Amino acid sequence: MAPIRVRIAPSPTGPLHIGTARTALFNFLFARHHGGTFILRLEDTDQARSTAAFEKDIVDNLHWLGLSWDEGPAVAGGEERGSYGPYRQMERLERYAEAAEQLLREDRAYPCYCTPDELEAERRRQEATGQSPSYSGRCARLTAVERRTREAEGLRPAIRFRIGPGTVAFDDAVRGRVEIDTAVLGGDLVIVRADGTPLYHFTVVVDDAAMAVSDVIRGEDHLSNTPKHILLFRALGHPEPRFAHLPLILNPDRSKMSKRKSQTAIDDYVAEGYVREALVNFLALLGWSTGTEDEILSLDELIERFDLGAVQKGGAVFDRQRLEWLNGQWIRRLEDDDLVERLLPFLEADAVAGRIDRVPAAAEVEAILPLVRERLPVLGSIGDVAGFFFCEEVGLDPSVLIPKRWDRATTHDGLQAARATVEAAGASGFEAERLEAGLRALAEERGWKAGDLFMAIRVALTGKTATPPLFESMVALGREQTLERLARAIDTLEEA
Ligand code: GLU
Repeated sequence: MAPIRVRIAPSPTGPLHIGTARTALFNFLFARHHGGTFILRLEDTDQARSTAAFEKDIVDNLHWLGLSWDEGPAVAGGEERGSYGPYRQMERLERYAEAAEQLLREDRAYPCYCTPDELEAERRRQEATGQSPSYSGRCARLTAVERRTREAEGLRPAIRFRIGPGTVAFDDAVRGRVEIDTAVLGGDLVIVRADGTPLYHFTVVVDDAAMAVSDVIRGEDHLSNTPKHILLFRALGHPEPRFAHLPLILNPDRSKMSKRKSQTAIDDYVAEGYVREALVNFLALLGWSTGTEDEILSLDELIERFDLGAVQKGGAVFDRQRLEWLNGQWIRRLEDDDLVERLLPFLEADAVAGRIDRVPAAAEVEAILPLVRERLPVLGSIGDVAGFFFCEEVGLDPSVLIPKRWDRATTHDGLQAARATVEAAGASGFEAERLEAGLRALAEERGWKAGDLFMAIRVALTGKTATPPLFESMVALGREQTLERLARAIDTLEEA
């Protein structure tokens, strides 16, 4: 069997999209599972919409996800690896021109002089009579003389590939046997525009053939293109690759996920603090599963277990809650120093935005990890969850500071007594269990519900009603800060 060679072929006309990332991942997993080659090819022939910035976004985010490739540009705008290059289509234009020449020579393609206006009129006539748009084949049988006349008139032809009657059948690794009547393909296919630029259907086939791609794994939105591609492979005298069409990614309401309606750029997920392990894990489960209960899988485990044959046919629903859950699971699994390193940029951004007063040292962040690790759905929540540790003063709202069942006087009294208890415990008693025991005893003695007292203390120290465990947080804040914040809350109540 020919070696396994697969590719991801993004067009740099937008940032890395969830769907492209999923396709890249499935190609990567298939290649790595079978010891094959994974290629990055940039389909940049849409010059008007392609930009270097989008290319960088795509390449950087593929790297960030950990999907390394064996051939293609190593970094955005950088040198290429591999012996089937160049790997950007704009550098392969001669190859498309040669292939078009071959098809013209063998009369598998012909020059078409129809103008856009003529084609538009034809389309409208068909629409009016309820036909689906299909090229009539007006230029398909021009004689040499007729062609020369048009050339003499200064008309520049497009090149059309003859589709011909019949059925195209193939065995899709996901969808099984697929048969499509060529009558629905829209007639003979433009492969090169009149201005000489080649079209996607043509470049993709020329390149997949030249790069010896063995398996084309791509989204189901391409399913209707595949018969055209197969006919082109055959006409070019090249064995066609195997095909696998991955299910569409759907919104929870089962509508197609689109840029307009949903958050589709990988970058936006990175910015919120999704970790690569969770995104990769989540993307792998968009249309595939192990067939077991196991759903937390590392990239290495995915490589080992991935099976293209187990990909589902039906649409894959994008469940954001599942992504968030997986993210929390992966955040729990990260090594301390790794997690600290990933949290620091978010804390830096919080400091710049004024949400916290200073960027903590790595050691400080590491010290509070046990308190926050399980409370982070995304890395970007760190400021919300733990920002109070890194603020000089927390914002105190008396209406929040006073617990529901308490009034101002009781709260004032409670916080004063709590402060005295903490102070009396001394430096040696400043330890979570002892603080808790002391404050519980205080509540009992005064006939308060411990929950009310603890809530007042919690808000005094953090400004919030939901926080990491209270006594451990006191210890992490330190005795001095704790006493100071309690004093400030007492002042706030007196001033209010
Ligand atoms: N440039 C195409 C796309 O991004 C590639 C499709 C294919 O894999 O053939 O959709």
